[in-house]
Amino acid sequence: MDRACSPLVHVLHPSPNFEPRRGKTQADMLILHYTGMMSAPRAIAWLATPASKVSSHYVIDEQGIITQMVPESARAWHAGVGCWAGETDINSASIGIEIQNPGHDLGYPEFGEAQMKAVIALSQDIVARNAIPATRVLAHSDVSPGRKIDPGEKFDWAGLHACGVGHWVAPAPLDESEIGFGAGDCHPMIAKATSLLAAYGYGIQPSDTLDAKGAAVVRSFQLHFRPARPDGRVDRSTIATLEALLAAA
Ligand SMILES: [Zn+2]
Repeated sequence: MDRACSPLVHVLHPSPNFEPRRGKTQADMLILHYTGMMSAPRAIAWLATPASKVSSHYVIDEQGIITQMVPESARAWHAGVGCWAGETDINSASIGIEIQNPGHDLGYPEFGEAQMKAVIALSQDIVARNAIPATRVLAHSDVSPGRKIDPGEKFDWAGLHACGVGHWVAPAPLDESEIGFGAGDCHPMIAKATSLLAAYGYGIQPSDTLDAKGAAVVRSFQLHFRPARPDGRVDRSTIATLEALLAAA
């Protein structure tokens, strides 16, 4: 079977920025990004520039046009330094999709319907052909906490899950009056949250004390699974959502 590309691709725009996968012949993770650039043509040009040293298997613009830049069989350079469930070479383990959105620094507009339809269709195709488990369809922010926050809290993970892609449970209700615990705090709830985050796959050491790195992991979790308040603070809703996810994994 040819696993090099998706039949849903509209445009081929090859990037020179790739190499063979290390230690793997096939991806078992799907990583979703936003481009963080003003337009898809600019992002595609950048991802094909040798000096940028970055690339992605796919780019999806606002209209839902899917451009393939690197064959799925190859190691694209989209994730950089990161880890998940003991895996530290995310690029060798994954397929990357860059979704056009200028990102948090440039207004962070909503992801539109046509674009989301294309993201869903391409993701369905990729996870089916590569047998990628639901719990390994992740945000860039999940694998690189503190360094990356894309695709961010506006991305519709619930809608993706409703179409059979990725892992999701309804977030536990947030008590707006609960301040929670942040970086520098020490509390048994922090011990609980950090051990649950580590069990789910996040790169964090269980501890009753939350440092800045730990708070970034909490925020990454919230950006994906509890988007109502991605503040990096441990609260009851965050813990309950984690428990429900692990129970459903
Ligand atoms: Zn990214």
